Amino acid sequence: MISEAVRDDFPVLGQGLIYLDNAATSLTPKPVIDKLMEYYIHYRANPSRSIHSFARRTEDKLREARRTSASFINARPEEVIFTRNATEGLNIVARGIRFDGRGGNIVVTALEHHSNFLPWMEKCKSEGREFRIVYPREGEITISKDEFAAKIDGETKLVALTHVNNVFGTILPVREVIKMAHENGAYVVLDAAQSTPHMRVDVKELDVDFLALSGHKICGPTGSGLLYIKKNLMERVDPLNLGGGAVLNVQPSSYELADPPAKYEAGTVAHCEAMAMADAFEYVNRIGLENILDHDRRLIGLAHELLEDVDQVKIYSPTAGEGTSILAFTIGKLDPAEVAMILDSSSNIAVRSGHLCAQVCTRDVLSEPEGVVRVSTYFYNTEKEIKTFAEAVKDIVDTMVE
Ligand code: PMP
Repeated sequence: MISEAVRDDFPVLGQGLIYLDNAATSLTPKPVIDKLMEYYIHYRANPSRSIHSFARRTEDKLREARRTSASFINARPEEVIFTRNATEGLNIVARGIRFDGRGGNIVVTALEHHSNFLPWMEKCKSEGREFRIVYPREGEITISKDEFAAKIDGETKLVALTHVNNVFGTILPVREVIKMAHENGAYVVLDAAQSTPHMRVDVKELDVDFLALSGHKICGPTGSGLLYIKKNLMERVDPLNLGGGAVLNVQPSSYELADPPAKYEAGTVAHCEAMAMADAFEYVNRIGLENILDHDRRLIGLAHELLEDVDQVKIYSPTAGEGTSILAFTIGKLDPAEVAMILDSSSNIAVRSGHLCAQVCTRDVLSEPEGVVRVSTYFYNTEKEIKTFAEAVKDIVDTMVE
C-alpha cells in the first residue's frame, strides 16, 4: 500500500491524528516543507524586480516552477498564473472575462462549490445575463449529459462546472460538456480543485478554456494555487488587480499591460510557495496519480462496505469505482456538526461537516438542512484508519440514536 511508504513524510500522522479532511486541504510532506525552507533561505529576493544576481537566481527558480506546474496539467508555462487558491483563479476569470454582445446566459451546476457559483451569479446580475443552474435528476447525485443539453444553447456565453463535486465526490461528464459548450460557441471554466489531487487532468486533451486548482490540496503549501487560461483567450480576460509587475509602460493617464502571465500577477507573487507547489506536483507525480485514485477508491469502497448496512447511517456518495476520495453521510437526525465533534473528541478523527461551501448542493439537492458529514482520503490514509473511523461511527449510532 502506498500509505505505508510515505507516512513518515507526514509527522503529524504519527501523533494519533486520523486526518480525513483532505478535500478541505491536504497535508504537506516534509520534503516539500524542506524545499520551502530552502527557498526562504536561498531564493527570498523579489523575482522580476531587481537586477542583482540574488533576484535573478530567484527569478530563474520561479520560471522553473512555472514550467513544472504547467506540465502538471499539460499547459504551456505562459498559460499558467500563480494564485493563492482556486477561488482567486475562478474570480480572475469571472471578473475579467469580456463577452461579445449583451444578454445571453451563463450556465453553472447545482453541485458547485460557492467559489464557482457566486462569482458567476454576480457577473450575471451586474451584466444583465441569465444565470442558469443545471440540477441532477430527482434523487441522483450526478448530472448526465442530457441535463446539460437542456440548459446549454446558442445564447450560452460560458459554462462553469466542477470536475469532481466536493460534497460527495461524483465526477461530472466534463469532456461531453466541453464539446457541447464549444459547439454552441460558449467557453468552459473547469473547477478542478477536487479532481487534480487524484487524477491526471490534461487541459489540451480536454480542450478546456479555463481551469483553476488548489496547490494546497495537492501537498503544496497554503496560499498556493494555479489558474490556466488558454493562450488565445488571454486577450479576453482583464486582470483582477492592477499594479507593479503587471504593466510595461505607465503614463499620467494611460498604461500598457505586460504580456501574460505577468499581467495577471500584479504585486509580489508568493513565489516561495509557488516554487514549493511545483515540488509538491513532482512529489505527487512520483507516487503516481493513477495509484492515488486507486488507493482512494479502495478506502472509500471499504468505508461504504463497513457503513452501508448500519442502521440510521445514510450514505450519499457513489459506490466504489465511480467516485473519488469522498464519502458523505448523515446519522439519523443527528446534527452533522455534533457527529464531527464526537469523532474528533472520542477518536481524534478529523472530518468536515455542514454545508461544505456548497449550500445549493446540500440543501436543495440532498435536502439536508444542516448539511452532511464528509470523509475525504488521500494517499497517506490507511485501511486501518478507515476501520477505526467506521467503528467510531457505529459507536455513535449505538449511543446516540434512539
Ligand atoms: N472548488 C471546489 C470544488 C472546492 O472543493 C474548493 C475547496 N473546498 C474550492 C473550489 C475552493 O478552493 P480554495 O480553498 O483553494 O480557494
